[in-house]
Amino acid sequence: MPRRIALALMGLALSTTLLAEAAPTAQAASKKQGKVVYLTFDDGPSQRYTPKLLDILRDNRIPATFFVVGHRCEQFPDIVRRIQREGHEIGNHGFAHFDPKKHGLDEVMLDIRKTDTAVVKACGTKPVYYRPPYGSIDAKEIECVHKLGHPIALWTVDSLDWKAKSANAIVTQVERHARDGSIILFHDGISPSRYTVEAMPRIIRDFRRDGYTFKTLPVDDSLRVEAFVPKIDDRALAPRDAHDVHSKRRPTVGASRVCRQGRD
Ligand SMILES: [Zn+2]
Repeated sequence: MPRRIALALMGLALSTTLLAEAAPTAQAASKKQGKVVYLTFDDGPSQRYTPKLLDILRDNRIPATFFVVGHRCEQFPDIVRRIQREGHEIGNHGFAHFDPKKHGLDEVMLDIRKTDTAVVKACGTKPVYYRPPYGSIDAKEIECVHKLGHPIALWTVDSLDWKAKSANAIVTQVERHARDGSIILFHDGISPSRYTVEAMPRIIRDFRRDGYTFKTLPVDDSLRVEAFVPKIDDRALAPRDAHDVHSKRRPTVGASRVCRQGRD
């Protein structure tokens, strides 16, 4: 088993253990407020799709979380500002959108810090959550990302929009797998995002009909979540988890990679 997957599974096992301790916080909040799903959009901002998505969300009064790519924030700062102005949460999805496992730890951390800087420059606010490109992260990176001040949010349901050939496929996939508390992965910056945009009004309508509300990933300390769902292959919808980021227990790490608090 490749080391990276082994570490991801280790993180999952740990997360599963933590679920028993930490779930009450998330569950309690969820029960009090009714059924909730978290819409999350990766790889933007894009000039072509993000404004259309923002229009749909605004018209339906729905907040979402956008995991933006740093170099695109530099390209489209106006869209970043619009995301923030319209009440959405902005997360960090790396600067160059490279696969972290193909780069050194220092390079990955620099990439994350550069994205923080790009977002702050565009809209004045530092992202709370970090979501690694491709959902690829190992235990040492988790520790270092925490030191940068970011909880990590992957997803619990993959809409598979990145390989969708129709809006129907996205609607079906999401409605089959999502449940109360699901963090749903979509994309607003890739070519099939046109289907994501097309699917969104139907997804919103159907979830509303079923009594769901939509929220941004919580940023309040007591409600913050972390979700680790490694992508083992294209089919993987691995077990999901949400636990309090302030849990004392963290993934263990090897001694081979060292967190360094370098500068940009
Ligand atoms: Zn991505």
